[in-house]
Amino acid sequence: MVGIKLITVQCLTRDAVRIAWLLDETLDDLSEATVSVWRSTSSSSGYVRVSQEMSAADVHYFLDSGVNILSLQRDVFWRVQVTQGDSVTQYGSTDARQVAQGADAGGVRLASAAPPLNALEIGRRVALVIDGYVGQRFLHLRRRTSGRRCPECWDALKRQCSRSSCPTCFSVGFAGGYFPPQPINLGALRPKDLQEAMSSIATVEVRDSVFQAHNRVLISKDDVLVSPTSRYAVVSVTFEEFSGFVTRQLVALRELPRTGVEYTIPISWTVNSLTQNQPMGHLQSTSLESYEEGILALGIGPPTVNPATLFPSTLIEEP
Ligand SMILES: [Zn+2]
Repeated sequence: MVGIKLITVQCLTRDAVRIAWLLDETLDDLSEATVSVWRSTSSSSGYVRVSQEMSAADVHYFLDSGVNILSLQRDVFWRVQVTQGDSVTQYGSTDARQVAQGADAGGVRLASAAPPLNALEIGRRVALVIDGYVGQRFLHLRRRTSGRRCPECWDALKRQCSRSSCPTCFSVGFAGGYFPPQPINLGALRPKDLQEAMSSIATVEVRDSVFQAHNRVLISKDDVLVSPTSRYAVVSVTFEEFSGFVTRQLVALRELPRTGVEYTIPISWTVNSLTQNQPMGHLQSTSLESYEEGILALGIGPPTVNPATLFPSTLIEEP
């Protein structure tokens, strides 16, 4: 059976609440199960489905944009449902093993109060700068940390991979290795900030670098980031916070050797000089009007942050 554990609910933007989960260790093929997110104002009943049915193998979080975050006065609870064949199970705050024995699943609510408006505004402006001006396109590969162990190389007795470069899990130890790629923009840092950020890496190597990322897609240590020319491992992630809410991520990257197993992850991605950088980076606009004219002439719209575009998707197409 595919089971859900450790559901977390977090508010990072004023557009959406982020519901994330981990999977119980299983022997089943995850692509044969679907997950969906449900919401209610009561922890024990009245749940309504708020997401589509998503493949359990492809997603590890969902952005629920249907809640009014600015007036989160009442309790809101979320559950994650797993559908596998004829079996349908909802998971909430109760331990998965107890749910399997028939206990009420409960509901998971926001871990904190609604974020202060100034924290949300800082996050929004950081995203605007990165997505609109200074960002470069990368693909983010989230490393799997739960679910089905790799059928090729996992040694259940020794609890480790038995091969150093496994073509099935790319030496992650979980089937598939990484979640499907998601486009993300990373911005360069000001030289002074870069110097400071680099000093946080324990042992700096020649090709290490630190980028800033907004809080729309959370990056973790050991994830892989793919640029059109190179692939990088995430060495560390530092969160900048305001009143306890993440407003910006500082991501330290180390370029991977070309012979590394990460280069065998099949990714088809085409970018051109226009889509590699951000729309406004191509313009010499001196006023809002000339900017509007400029993007019209280029046939591209202003950058938008739409939760729907943040879903991990199996197909990445750049015009
Ligand atoms: Zn493997």
